[in-house]
Amino acid sequence: MSDSHHHHDNASFDQIGEVLRAHSSFVILSHIRPDGDAIGSQLALGHALLAAGKKVRLINEDGLPDNLMFMAGSEKIELPPSTPLEVEVAIALDTATKPRLGEKSLHAASKAKIWLNIDHHISNPRYGDLNRIDPTSPATGQIIYQLITALNLPLPPETRDAIYVAVSTDTGSFQYPSTTAQTYTMAADLINRGLDVGTINSNIYDNYPYRRVELMRALLNTLEVSDNGLVAHWTMIDQLRVDLNLRPEDSEGLIDFIRAIRGVQLAVFFEELPDGKIRVSMRSKDRRLDVCQIASTFGGGGHPLAAGIRMSGPLDEAKTLVLAEIHRRIQASEIESNHL
Ligand code: 5GP
Ligand code: MN
Repeated sequence: MSDSHHHHDNASFDQIGEVLRAHSSFVILSHIRPDGDAIGSQLALGHALLAAGKKVRLINEDGLPDNLMFMAGSEKIELPPSTPLEVEVAIALDTATKPRLGEKSLHAASKAKIWLNIDHHISNPRYGDLNRIDPTSPATGQIIYQLITALNLPLPPETRDAIYVAVSTDTGSFQYPSTTAQTYTMAADLINRGLDVGTINSNIYDNYPYRRVELMRALLNTLEVSDNGLVAHWTMIDQLRVDLNLRPEDSEGLIDFIRAIRGVQLAVFFEELPDGKIRVSMRSKDRRLDVCQIASTFGGGGHPLAAGIRMSGPLDEAKTLVLAEIHRRIQASEIESNHL
């Protein structure tokens, strides 16, 4: 059955609220290699439930990335414990498929008797007992904001700031076309509740480690643009991670730099992972070039304009396969080539 047929299966905020009210212990999870929306959504809902007097554990397979350590209350994010947690409810946030929670996290949450699945990925197969999948939401953090305000849950400063980080990072600082009037209304409400815009943006965007810029320099040396000017891609070999002492989050968002080239409609980032697998990150500027569809050809997923794949290597083979599929899709679309 297609996702559109499933749409009416969305749980209402009241149904989710009933599960939150009726139970006292929760584990909140998000995807491997967590980004601002994953960690932000966990912290936002986690601190709201803690303020409501619940027992809450916040677990991520890869822990808290260094770049998000500035977030208030982020010390609550833990690596998965080796023994399953005694919790009644597991809540998966921002995670398009259950395996993307990670094996250790799934084991840690294995005693939960109810699963909630709250996400904004259209490809989400609704693996929870209650599902709230809203692909019109630019970030899972915005769904969490709606949930908290609809249910009149506490909204402590940790939650307020975490929602902002989640939505700002998933919208490219409120720029992507997924950004809605509701997003700005929400941001205004958060500011009215005391959020410090200058400080929080400085912590997110003006505080990168130098090695990230060194990575950018190395990536620029690998940049290629297709003859028709529509596709830009760059590549990170695993040796670069070793040489520059990189952390997984260091490459996050860099793809926006080549997506921004005039005329480019699709940007691709190929990253060789330590285990030999290849991570492919794709961004499209044009709705007619749906990168989620391209990603799903290779078992990946995401959103129409931002999607990813984890596939087997070697690197050159993965690049050839993905670029060939991209050019097939471009030829099948009505998109005209550009002359640089
Ligand atoms: P990014 O390129 O920032 O890693 O990911 C862009 C979007 O695609 C995110 O919403 C992310 O959840 C999704 N995504 C990235 N990699 C994968 C993957 O390997 N599988 C699936 N299903 N989705 C992915
Ligand atoms: Mn997200």
